[in-house]
Amino acid sequence: MINKLNYSYEIIGGTSKNRPLIVEYFGKMIDSDTRVLIIGSQHGDEKYARKSLKYLVSYLCKLNNNLTTRLDDSCIAILSDANPDGSIINSRLNAMGIDLNRDHQHLSSIENNDIHSFITKWNPDYLIDVHNYPAKRKYLPKSISLNYDVFVDIPNNPTIYKLISRKKTEKFLEDIKTHVTKSGFHCDRYFVFSSSGKVRHSTHDITNALNFMALRHQIPTFLVEGRQPNRRDDVLTRKNLVLALFTTIFFILQYLIFKKNRKYFHKQQIPQRGDPFYIRYKYKNSSNPLKVRVFDLDLNKEKQIFLTNYAHSLISTKKILLPFGYAIPKNKHILLDFLNRHGFLSIPEKTTQLYYEIEYFNIDEIIFSKKINRTHLKIDFTIKKDTKKLDNYVIFPVNQLGGLLLSLFFELDSKYHLSRYSDLDLCVMQNTVYPILRVV
Ligand SMILES: [Zn+2]
Repeated sequence: MINKLNYSYEIIGGTSKNRPLIVEYFGKMIDSDTRVLIIGSQHGDEKYARKSLKYLVSYLCKLNNNLTTRLDDSCIAILSDANPDGSIINSRLNAMGIDLNRDHQHLSSIENNDIHSFITKWNPDYLIDVHNYPAKRKYLPKSISLNYDVFVDIPNNPTIYKLISRKKTEKFLEDIKTHVTKSGFHCDRYFVFSSSGKVRHSTHDITNALNFMALRHQIPTFLVEGRQPNRRDDVLTRKNLVLALFTTIFFILQYLIFKKNRKYFHKQQIPQRGDPFYIRYKYKNSSNPLKVRVFDLDLNKEKQIFLTNYAHSLISTKKILLPFGYAIPKNKHILLDFLNRHGFLSIPEKTTQLYYEIEYFNIDEIIFSKKINRTHLKIDFTIKKDTKKLDNYVIFPVNQLGGLLLSLFFELDSKYHLSRYSDLDLCVMQNTVYPILRVV
């Protein structure tokens, strides 16, 4: 008997130009044992990421070997095109000029609002985010391009490893690299050049899907970046690049689905009051250079180069103890709507009638960053204590799924403080009292 996977699809939202966001499902739709969501083409100009997911869809449609029985208990959801408005005009951004993969904290795009509500509803156990990377880099000589068929990465915000096991996640990254390399492709851990020319792995910032989704849903997330073909690549090489992406994604899928314990990576912790927690980090340079595989156009051959300005890891620089939660004034409608759209829960209104021990903040000095959507460079504040009723506030407790994000959003020292977005009505000003209270 031919055993085929169940298939269905759903329109989970739309764009500002009314193009649908379509998720295709494979496997067990209800009460599935493991749910994996794959998102592609957040950047509309990454055609080969889309192609690899189309290939995966057609592969899963035809699949009828013994793998189907294993997949039968699981469900794979594929959103091949998260940015159809951008894809149609080959643009990285959506029709409103928003980079979707820098918008997961801010949630200003229609697409991301729809995608986030879908994720909250569907509740995946894992997420795979698929992209393409350009082989040419500003900080490399013109004749040299990066020569990896595919890059992979895991979340780089250290907070995530309070929620999932770092050791298991890093081991899995090594397993992916080994498997993909054995399959005949060049694969390594993803890296980029920061604006200062420093080489680092994907960012610790929480604006991208890789870090944000891991924090919000407390799930392991994986980044897969296939090389964007260039002009000298022939048809066969291009096909090979699609295959490299497919091989990588399919290996990750198998690994996640075949793991007996589906919570293999999870520490399954809900954040608690009093937990120590770091809200600021800085890069630390490695004593070893990064070995990089490149193609030299002048020599017309592959070679290795060594990049010395390599920030391998992050050091935590600012620690807090988690409070019970944060109190937001009831008249901060924009901010409350924002937290609502992120799906955060507040405590019942009648309990705000009770007396709470709180901490509030006088902002003494602040130095702003000149860059857009960056938090202040430096802030000095005085903490004061009080006991009061909070009936003019909405209280968001930290001990909920994704609750650590609340500290990253509201702690004045946080690198990801919401004041970085001017439209959220939470600017911080010198010689004022910060409107948000810490409920301790
Ligand atoms: Zn991308």
